Amino acid sequence: MQEDHVMSPAAEQTDGAASGRVLIEVDHAGMIYQAESGPVEALRDISLQIREGEFVALVGPSGCGKSTLMRAIAGLRPVTSGRILVDGVPVDKPIPKVGMVFQAALLLKWRSVLDNVLLPVELSGGNPAQYRERALALLKMVGLSDFANKRPGELSGGMQQRASLCRALILDPPILLMDEPFGALDAMTRDEMNIELLRIWGESSSGGQRKTIVFVTHSIPEAVFLADRVVVMSPRPGRVANIRPVDIARPRTAETRADPALGRLSFELYTELSGATGRRETRAGPQW
Ligand code: ADP
Ligand code: MG
Repeated sequence: MQEDHVMSPAAEQTDGAASGRVLIEVDHAGMIYQAESGPVEALRDISLQIREGEFVALVGPSGCGKSTLMRAIAGLRPVTSGRILVDGVPVDKPIPKVGMVFQAALLLKWRSVLDNVLLPVELSGGNPAQYRERALALLKMVGLSDFANKRPGELSGGMQQRASLCRALILDPPILLMDEPFGALDAMTRDEMNIELLRIWGESSSGGQRKTIVFVTHSIPEAVFLADRVVVMSPRPGRVANIRPVDIARPRTAETRADPALGRLSFELYTELSGATGRRETRAGPQW
């Protein structure tokens, strides 16, 4: 597999964020939807290599194809040109290596939190009883031990999103695809969830290997805070406009938010994106 030189600074980080081999390879991928009104070109010629253990954030204007790309990587809707490889294998159907988290927690309201977390086990034909301990351990890890037997409606938005994260982790997938997972949460809960996620990323292991995370967000500071690299997409048809390594030390904590490097990079990305989307008006901050 070809080396991606753009990413070498992140790959050389000593904190072990990206250990080496390419796990997700998007190779000249394009997507054209056949809508009733005619063809919609959502993605054009996307090429991107993501290494095992890497945390990549994806930002770009609404409608530029971020969710399309995530679904394609997950094998939920294959690309219409080019190809996507996960672990060297072309993706053409849903793959068990992937756990997904969406903006809405999408928990089944008539099932307990524990049974929601166990749902992927059932769907994949496994025996939920064998995963019960793991489910409880995951719930404990995100501070939901006391809520295992509650219904989702008894949980706050942030707690529901934590439960959906446990559900994504139950089969210990090496890849987590997160599509604006904290977009519906209030700012403080979101900040807490960011730190929680980094902790889980650091702790969780698939055979001792850190998970590979692709994280879509509308918030540039959130992307910078979390990621090893930020991929900036252009307006539809979505293309890779830029890839920026985030040279901020880990572990990242609440104090990291006061790091001038975070503000600087956020502002650069913001400027780039507002240029890319034609929105050049001045705003108060780097959030857009
Ligand atoms: P994003 O997640 O970046 O907001 P999406 O991937 O959801 O963007 O959508 C990219 C473009 O593709 C949008 O113009 C959207 O309307 C279009 N699109 C998404 N899904 C479909 C579909 N199933 N059929 C037709 N067009 C679609
Ligand atoms: Mg989307």
